[in-house]
This record gives sequence, structure tokens and C-alpha cells, in this order.
Amino acid sequence: NQLIDQIAAGEVVERPASVVKELVENALDAGATVIDIDVQTGGKKRIKITDNGQGISQDDLAMALQRHATSKIHSLDDLESLLSMGFRGEALPSIASVSRFDLISRHQDAEMAYQVSAHGGDIEGPVPAAHPVGTTVIVADLFFNTPARRRFLKTDKTEYLRIDDLIKRVSLSRFDVTFRLSHNGKMIRNAQGGDTDVLRHQRINQLCGKDFIENAIFIEQQRGNLKMSGWVAKPSWNRAQPDRQFFYINNRMIKDKLVGHAIRQAYQDVLFHGRFPAFVLYLDIDPELVDVNVHPTKHEVRFRDSKLVHDFIFGSIHQSLAQTRV
Ligand code: ADP
Ligand code: MG
Repeated sequence: NQLIDQIAAGEVVERPASVVKELVENALDAGATVIDIDVQTGGKKRIKITDNGQGISQDDLAMALQRHATSKIHSLDDLESLLSMGFRGEALPSIASVSRFDLISRHQDAEMAYQVSAHGGDIEGPVPAAHPVGTTVIVADLFFNTPARRRFLKTDKTEYLRIDDLIKRVSLSRFDVTFRLSHNGKMIRNAQGGDTDVLRHQRINQLCGKDFIENAIFIEQQRGNLKMSGWVAKPSWNRAQPDRQFFYINNRMIKDKLVGHAIRQAYQDVLFHGRFPAFVLYLDIDPELVDVNVHPTKHEVRFRDSKLVHDFIFGSIHQSLAQTRV
């Protein structure tokens, strides 16, 4: 089944940043409050992620690298429908099948830690190891056994920037969690977790520019089941850049054409020119009315009523901007 793992890995694991995304999401799922992300050469040589979450028991470690759904796959059709459904329990086996992989964890109720390893397929362990409560995942030599995919990777710098971009986006969705990011042994980001305005504003300013908050309009709007809050740069603030745009739906980061269009329209309508807005916005919507899992590696969303959502986002920003023009 290594082939199936590798095919599935092609869907889940496009590049180092997608590995980091899966592992950070797992750490958050495990209740971690501190997450350390340490990458070498853009994540190609090594990705190491340590969290202080609840950890994984010895029994679960033995299972963690097994494909849960293997028994369901009898044909290529089955595989295709599985791939399109999303990937519960697919991430770790997929990543492990295309890397030299170590998973070390100590469960909160356990006396000691254990480790499982997989170097491109064969699974070893669990064997006793040293680790505080929590989990470390090491993904070395990504795609070492799938050279075609390895060749598809961009430069170290480009791959690193994708990881950095991801960490920025995740860190704005969980202000209560500390995120630290190192590249080639150098600490690049250190966002202290905590639910206070000071820490929140600090974190936002680190990502959007040190004077962003004081030059932004705070938005808080509600219409029916739709709620939006956050910050949009005042038109007078001229340091807005396209990489300072953060939009969340039900606290999941997304990049969506419809959303982008609504914000841009509102901005241009008031400004009469095409400068890029900077924003950090959070939209809450009934989960029934939106599908954010269209594809596991993409950020697209599908709204039940896209015109309603577009109008709400447009209207909220337009109104707030227009009010502050005086
Ligand atoms: P999924 O997240 O869809 O369940 P994964 O392959 O990403 O699938 O992870 C498999 C399982 O391994 C998780 O359901 C979780 O129980 C456990 N796990 C993975 N990473 C961690 C972690 N950092 N801390 C605790 N448990 C973890
Ligand atoms: Mg997962």
C-alpha cells in the first residue's frame, strides 16, 4: 500500500508548507498552547514541529502511521472518491510515505514517551524515547523517494516564504497560542500567546506593519446570522500591501475570489482608485451555509448564498470606510 500512500500524499502534501499546515493543525487539535516550528532549507531538508498538547498514547502511536481507510480501497474509482472526500486520518501516513519521518510523543497520562519512525514506508516502533508531555514530529528529506515531486519544489527561499505565510495566517486565528518559527537555526518569528488586547495588537502589527492598528478602522457588523469583525486600513494609510490581507471564516484562514472581490469593491468605491487594502477580518457564518473543505490543500470556499455574503462584506466595509471619510 505504499503506492496508495504516495498517491494520496500527492494530494495532501504538495510542498513543505502543506506538511507544516497539517502538523500545526494537529498540534492545535491536541490543545497545544506553545508550538515550535523549526525548518531547514525551506523545509526540504527538515521540518521539526514540537507542541505541548495532550500527546499520543503508545497504542495510538502504533496506529498513527497506518492508513485508516486502506480497507475501503478496492479500485482506482474508490481511491478517487476517497481523495475527493477529504482526508481524515490521512495526513501522517501520507507524509510518512514520502519522507524520513519520526514521531515522538508522551501522552499526558503516560509515564514515558515513545517514538515511531518510517523511512519511506517501513514503520518502526513504538520504542521508548525521551520527551516531555506533548509531541514532536520530524519530517526529513521530503520527497527523497519521489524525485519527480522533489524537482517540482521551488527555491529554499520561496518554500520558506510559503511556510512563513502560513504561520502568519494561522497565528492570527489563535491569539491564545504561542508560535515560534525558526529557519536554518535562526528564530524568525516569536508570537507570544495570550488573550489580551495588547498581545493581539502586537501580533497584528508584527504582520501588517507596526502602525497598522492605529491607522485602521475597527469593524463590527452583524446582519442576521452573518457577523464580521476586524480591522481595515484607513484609505490614508499608504503602507498597505497585498501580503497584509487576512480573512477568516469561522476562524479558518481562507483566500477566496468572492471575498477578495467584495473587499476590493468596497475600498475602490470609496477611494476611487485601485490601491490594495490591508485587512484582518473575521467572518462568522452558520457552518451549514458554507463549505470550507472543498479541497484539503486549497483555501477556496463555497457559499450557499454567495450574493448575500458578498453584499454583507461589501456593505460592512463600505459603510465603515464612508463614515470615517470626514
Ligand atoms: P487527522 O488529523 O485527520 O485525525 P492525522 O493523520 O493528521 O489525521 O493524525 C492522525 C491522528 O494522530 C490524529 O487524529 C491524532 O489523534 C493523532 N495526532 C497527530 N498529531 C498529533 C499531535 N501533534 N498531538 C496529539 N495527537 C496527534
Ligand atoms: Mg490532521
